[in-house]
Amino acid sequence: MSIDVTKVKDDLYQAVNAKTLEEMVIPADKPSTGGFMVLAEAMEKLLRKDLDAMLEGEISCENAEEEEMLAFYKKSRNFAERDEAGAAPALPLLEQIRAVASLEDLASLTKEWINKGLPSLFHLGVMADMMQATKNALYLVPPQIILPDKAYYENEAGEQLLEIYRMMSHDVLGEAGIPEADIARLVEDTLSFDKSLAPLTRSAEEKADYTKMYNPRSIEEIRSYHPNFDLATLLQELVHPELKQVIVTEPEFFEHFAELITEEKLEEIKSWLIVRSLNFATPYLSERLRQKGSLFALQLMGIPELEDKEKHAFNLTRNTYDQVLGQYYAKKYFGEEARADVEDMVKSMIDVYKERLAENTWLSKETIEKAIVKLDAIDPLIGFPDSYPDHYKKLKVDSEKSLLETVLAFNQIVSAVQRDKWAKDVDRKEWHMSADTVNAYYSPTSNVICFPAAILQEPFYSLKQSRSANYGGIGAVIAHEISHAFDNNGAKVDAEGNLFNWWKEEDYENFSARAEEMVKLWDGIEIYGGKVNGRLTVSENIADAGGLTCALQALQREESYDLKDFFYNWARVWCQKGREEYLQLLLTVDVHSPNPLRANMPVRSIDEFYSTFDVKEGDRMFLKEEERITIW
Ligand SMILES: [Zn+2]
Repeated sequence: MSIDVTKVKDDLYQAVNAKTLEEMVIPADKPSTGGFMVLAEAMEKLLRKDLDAMLEGEISCENAEEEEMLAFYKKSRNFAERDEAGAAPALPLLEQIRAVASLEDLASLTKEWINKGLPSLFHLGVMADMMQATKNALYLVPPQIILPDKAYYENEAGEQLLEIYRMMSHDVLGEAGIPEADIARLVEDTLSFDKSLAPLTRSAEEKADYTKMYNPRSIEEIRSYHPNFDLATLLQELVHPELKQVIVTEPEFFEHFAELITEEKLEEIKSWLIVRSLNFATPYLSERLRQKGSLFALQLMGIPELEDKEKHAFNLTRNTYDQVLGQYYAKKYFGEEARADVEDMVKSMIDVYKERLAENTWLSKETIEKAIVKLDAIDPLIGFPDSYPDHYKKLKVDSEKSLLETVLAFNQIVSAVQRDKWAKDVDRKEWHMSADTVNAYYSPTSNVICFPAAILQEPFYSLKQSRSANYGGIGAVIAHEISHAFDNNGAKVDAEGNLFNWWKEEDYENFSARAEEMVKLWDGIEIYGGKVNGRLTVSENIADAGGLTCALQALQREESYDLKDFFYNWARVWCQKGREEYLQLLLTVDVHSPNPLRANMPVRSIDEFYSTFDVKEGDRMFLKEEERITIW
């Protein structure tokens, strides 16, 4: 790779990626390409080729789960049957909504809709209790509004998107045979009800402070939310008769539940359920309905073309059987050598973190010791899990059922299995990402880091590229995930994953002041015709900065290394070309900063970047010493 060093001084990201970006073409049915996405595209092609080979009998299924996956794939590919049925499989759902005559009926419909994973007045989740992280608790969550964030309700893009939603819904309802005379009212009701929900939901920025989502409420308090819609009994019926406490992620929404859900508004609510349920169903119905129902999502991300029906059937199968296909991938294509190598890197990265903590000058001994206890307790999950999650055994494809009925029946099984975990021990070994996912994560409640097999590929990791490049790629990703244990949210959680303040007061103040500097450094940076939200992205920016610093130090412990290679590969992994609408969507809702800035900003606080490329005052990458931030 020949890179012009003088250009690095002004823009590392462009110096490394300009040529690739110029040649790169975003696939017509995708919102972006580059780095992560190039790998994800290749993964999609590879797995699709193999699944098609299974269909042809060229590859045989290894177990019952793979066989069911294949049966589901066949069903989703039965395009003739789907086209012939048209909207018919969805019509009984609409009938059920129409039959609702009281709030009591609405409550029992809601129960069924939650079970089936259909758009509903609220949602449930069973996850680790943040205050007692070894046990699972029930979380009560507001509904998804039509626009991706309430911020869109206040801008022009949002107005245009609602117009698209209006058009799309007219079209879908018409195609489903709803009388023309009813359509306008159904759609206008939907938009009106959704607009009443939006101000009571939290923005992405508010949700990013996830410890504020922890609001335990007694079942009596839940009961008091509404006099005529018995939320408490409904939750007890859905989860367990002895349910006594619920974690309400956004209490301000449920405190207004009685004003939102009234007899007077019943028709409006029913319209909202009809329109949203039908739009939800379109990907599982005829090709015409699938196409008509995709307009809003395409517009939202600026995607010009809908993926073709064959690819869609594959992706539907992949989403439904993600862990099955993920393990298939990992067992066939992932090398044990890579797993061992990455395990070593994780150990080495944790050692470096300890060294850095031992040398820390702004924390007291007591806090440093506790931070080291937390570091030692981090468990890595690498490559792929040993077994499938329980629900796969229960998913049986019934040849008599339509694709939509099958998907709803599957949702019902998965949500029952999930809810059955309520009040039981958390399984720390459970994977929340499938092995074919090009990504990684840190779980704060279980203090676990996870690196699926699919991210252990070039440019992140390869036995063929230099070790320095690997440290700039997967090394920095590993250290990024470890850093999440000590970002603004992770800092509030102890080694066992409980929300618990383990800091000495002045240490926490020191840390918070540094996190606040990070917010200021990023806030308002102009990009893609908008601005970075420093508060939305602070946890990821802390993790990027800590991760890069730590990976660099780990590399410097090797016998030989090349810092240029390290920084170049760091910039290379962030290469991204995206559609304008999509990039703006990310700017509003994504906790990660835009990729060019993820490449460029953290290096500007690192001494070795200045010495390696001789960056001086006057160069665009130069940052005044007093503005540089090192937290970890
Ligand atoms: Zn992260």
